[in-house]
Amino acid sequence: MTQENLSADVVIVGGGPAGSAAAIELCRSGRSVVIIDKAVFPRDKCCGDGLTTLALRELEQLGLDPGRVDNWFDVNGAVLRSPSGRQVTVPLPTDGRYAAVAPRLELDSALLDLARDAGADVRDGHGFRALDTSRSESDDVVTVEADDLTIDTRYVIAADGMWSPVRKATGSNDPGYLGEWHGFRQYASDVTGTAAHELHVWFDPDLLPGYAWSFPLPGNRANIGFGVLRDGSRTGKEIKAIWPDLLARPHIVEALGDGFTMEDRHTAWPIPARIDSLPLTSGRVLFVGDAAAATDVMTGEGIGQALLTGRIAAEALVAAGASRPDDATRIYTREVQHHLVADHRMSLALGSVLAKPWGARGAIRVIEASGSWGRRNFARWMFEDEPRAVALTPSRWHRRLLTRPGAYRS
Ligand SMILES: Cc1cc2nc3c(=O)[nH]c(=O)nc-3n(C[C@H](O)[C@H](O)[C@H](O)COP(=O)(O)OP(=O)(O)OC[C@H]3O[C@@H](n4cnc5c(N)ncnc54)[C@H](O)[C@@H]3O)c2cc1C
Repeated sequence: MTQENLSADVVIVGGGPAGSAAAIELCRSGRSVVIIDKAVFPRDKCCGDGLTTLALRELEQLGLDPGRVDNWFDVNGAVLRSPSGRQVTVPLPTDGRYAAVAPRLELDSALLDLARDAGADVRDGHGFRALDTSRSESDDVVTVEADDLTIDTRYVIAADGMWSPVRKATGSNDPGYLGEWHGFRQYASDVTGTAAHELHVWFDPDLLPGYAWSFPLPGNRANIGFGVLRDGSRTGKEIKAIWPDLLARPHIVEALGDGFTMEDRHTAWPIPARIDSLPLTSGRVLFVGDAAAATDVMTGEGIGQALLTGRIAAEALVAAGASRPDDATRIYTREVQHHLVADHRMSLALGSVLAKPWGARGAIRVIEASGSWGRRNFARWMFEDEPRAVALTPSRWHRRLLTRPGAYRS
């Protein structure tokens, strides 16, 4: 096949949530965008499929209609189980959506369709190969080489996930890096227990500060998985051995109910969570989402962070204009600092408490004792209704801080 030549204001490598969010924002500001992805969509991504309030607010702002995601499931609360077996139910407020579950196979495809509708030239099935920056000083142009494509552009947004080949091409990767967390996920059918309609989080002692989850889906299905820290205390083989053991634990079997069946096979993937220490830019390249290690270090949630970083990278490029790369990288770095770095530090601190069985036990006891107002607000806090570290960052306070309704209220 011959190599096709294209040009665009911005090339986005990776069509996951971070890449689509960036593309939608850029197209709406009149920029021409090419998205390349090595996968052909719809494609799956190993994930819990859980959407926090942050993710829901970003999706609403992008204009995603939940009705375009067939197996979308709205969540009204969570059932938490402490290391000692104590269980507490925390409801979510009802004035809008605060949490949902959306299979990535469907969600990412719907988002990419939205990017296409906004005007992005979507080239899935074209993997990134190389970056030529030799003309970036003289002509304000970098060239992206992909399978069957050569694209001249002003800027590259690297939304290419945990292993970011674009980061490798810029030489700003850390070759031994395996992520902060490692997660497993598998879908279950014929779920007849409470997990068919309730979101469960199990803080089993051997997983701390990690946890296992079951997130409900329509049709008596659930997304089940666990995440543990990659701190060198367990080999890959030991992590793998947790999975069958977990699926036989009585409290998990009880929640799934008699006769549940596991679909297909499990998948596993690392979770990168060190936004404070990884370079966010390199020349005319801006890293977003997992490529910027933007997931929450306490919970491993990264869809909201991917959407947020994609959006603010696009806004930085629009604000800076075509020929001011220093402005673009400065604005983007400043905005990431503003939106995510304090929360990362807060999550690190909270994660170290949850790492101890007494910490996780104590947290569940406090929630249990806190009455319905406290529980409801704990659930809002848990699902990142407002950034967790907002109390420490007064520059983010706004008038509706404690009273803002959930997403998609209308
Ligand atoms: C087990 C597990 C459970 C999780 N559960 C949750 C959860 O419940 N809620 C939550 O919010 N987060 C969760 N996360 C985190 C979440 O999945 C990620 O943070 C999120 O997918 C990041 O989005 P992204 O757009 O940055 O990257 P991705 O979604 O990984 O997209 C990257 C894209 O880049 C493409 N790509 C890669 N290489 C190339 C190449 N060479 N050329 C072109 N394209 C390329 C890929 O095909 C892919 O489409 C979980 C993660 C794991 C591992």
